[in-house]
Amino acid sequence: MTNIKNKDADVLAIKLRNRLIALLQGNNISENEISLEDYQSSRCQLNYSVDWEFSCSQSQNGYAGNHHVSPHYGDDVNNYNIESTRRCTIAKSDKSIRGEFISSIAKQDGDGLFNSISSNTFYNFGGHSVHTGCNNCKQSGAVYCGACGGSGNQNCYSCAGRGKIYNSQSQREDLCYGCMGTGKMWCSGCGGKGWIHCNTCDGAGFFTWITTSEAIATPKIYFSFEVNFSKIELNNFLSITPVNQLSNIVSFSVGDCQDIGDSVWRVYYKAFTTIIEAGFKIKNNSFRVAAIGDSLTPFIKPHIFDYLFSVEIEKSKTLNAMRKVDYKISLEIFNLFKESRLLSGVVKSFLSKYPSNSKESIRYLRDAVFESCEGFISKESSSVLGLSIPKFIKCISPEYSKEAWNIYFLPVLILLFVVGAYSGLYGGGRVVLINGFSSSIIIPVLATLIAAPFAAAASSRRIAKIHAMTPKEFQVKSRHYRPIMLYMVLSVLMVYVGGYIGAVLK
Ligand SMILES: [Zn+2]
Ligand SMILES: [Zn+2]
Ligand SMILES: [Zn+2]
Repeated sequence: MTNIKNKDADVLAIKLRNRLIALLQGNNISENEISLEDYQSSRCQLNYSVDWEFSCSQSQNGYAGNHHVSPHYGDDVNNYNIESTRRCTIAKSDKSIRGEFISSIAKQDGDGLFNSISSNTFYNFGGHSVHTGCNNCKQSGAVYCGACGGSGNQNCYSCAGRGKIYNSQSQREDLCYGCMGTGKMWCSGCGGKGWIHCNTCDGAGFFTWITTSEAIATPKIYFSFEVNFSKIELNNFLSITPVNQLSNIVSFSVGDCQDIGDSVWRVYYKAFTTIIEAGFKIKNNSFRVAAIGDSLTPFIKPHIFDYLFSVEIEKSKTLNAMRKVDYKISLEIFNLFKESRLLSGVVKSFLSKYPSNSKESIRYLRDAVFESCEGFISKESSSVLGLSIPKFIKCISPEYSKEAWNIYFLPVLILLFVVGAYSGLYGGGRVVLINGFSSSIIIPVLATLIAAPFAAAASSRRIAKIHAMTPKEFQVKSRHYRPIMLYMVLSVLMVYVGGYIGAVLK
C-alpha cells in the first residue's frame, strides 16, 4: 500500500474539512476558526469473509389427545426419534437443500455481505408426530375419585351417615329424609360415578408429540485489511460496525466461495477504497480526524464538542446539581443553548416530542445530543447536556405556576383543616355543615372546584410574564389544570387529618 500524495489526496482533505465545517459551524465557532494543518491519505483494501454455518433448529410440543401430523409414527417412539435425528443431519450436511440459499447469496454479489446479519431459515421440514399413553390414568382417560375413594358414595350431610335424626320435640330418632335412612348419598366430587376425568391427558388417555424441524444458516463474519496508518482505530471501528452499515461506506464484490467441511460454507468479499487522516486546528486546539470511503465516514472522532461546549457543560453540571432549579441560571443556560445550532435543534425537537418530563425523555435527550454531534462528543458530556434541558425548560417555560396555586390553596387547605377539626370536636367525627350528609368528601371537592379557576387564572398571569421572555418556539404549552387533582386529594386529606386530630383532642 502506498500513501497517496497527489491531487486525489488534496481533494479528500478539502472534502473532509468541508464536512467538519458543516458539522461544527454555528456552535460557538465560525468557519475561519477551523483550519486544515496536515494530512495523509492511503489506498485501503478491506477483506471480509462470511462463514455460513448450517444447523438444525428443532422444537417439540405435546398435546393431549390426537393432533397428529404427517408423517405420523403411531406409538413407535423409537422411529419417531430416529426421524428427528435424521432431519437434523440433513439440515447440517445435505448439500441439495441448501442450493437455493447459496445461489441467492451468490446472486447478490457484494451486497450479499450487507445482508449477512442474522440467521436464515433456508429449509422447513414441517412436523412429524407420535402418540404416547398417559401414565396418570393408565391410558383410560379416567382416574378414581379421591373424595369417595372410588365408591361413588359419601356420608349424608344431614345425619352424618347415621340414617336417623334426633327430634328434640318428640325426643325420638326420626328417619333422615336426606338419605331416606341409608346414611349415604352420591359423592359430589364424581356425581356418584366413582371416577373422574384425567386432567393430565384431558380424558383422552394419550398424547400427541410433534417435533418441527428447520434448517438454519448462521453467519459468522471475519475481516482483515491492509492500510498504512490508523490501523488500531480502523480495526476498532470495523469491529463495532455491523456489516449492513458498511453499505454506506464502500461497495464490495464477491470473490471465492467454498465448503469448509460438511456444515460450513465460506464466502469471500473484497473492497478497495481510501482512508484519510488529517490534523485540524479548531480555535486554539489541535484534533486529528480520520475517515474512510467515498462518503468519508469518520472513524477517528475526537471529542471536539466537549471543547466547543465547555461553558455549556460546566453550567449544566451546576444546574444538574441544584435541588431547586434557579431561574437566573436556567435563563443563562437557555441563552447559551439557543445560540448553538445543534443544541437549540435538540431542545426544539425535544419540545415537539415530549411536552412533559419523563424518564424516556431524559434517555432520548442524551442520545439526541450525542447523535446531533455525530459522535464528536463524549457520552458523559452528552448526558450532562441532555439532563439539563428538561430542567431549564421547566424553569423558563413552566406548564403552570406552582406559586400561584400555592397562594390560592394554602388558605383553602387551612380552612378545610379547621372544618375537619371542628367536626371532630363537635360533630361526632362527621362534617355537619350539610345537614345529615356525609360530606367529608363533598366539601373539599367543592372547595377545590371553587378555588381552582382563581388559581388557574393567577397561574396563567404569572406564566404569561415568564413566557414574555422566552422565544415562542421554546415555549411549552401551558397546562394550568395540571395541579387540580393534586389539590383535590390534599383537600380531602386535610379534612380527614383535621377530623382525626379533633377527635383525639376531644
Ligand atoms: Zn390420563
Ligand atoms: Zn367420588
Ligand atoms: Zn341422612
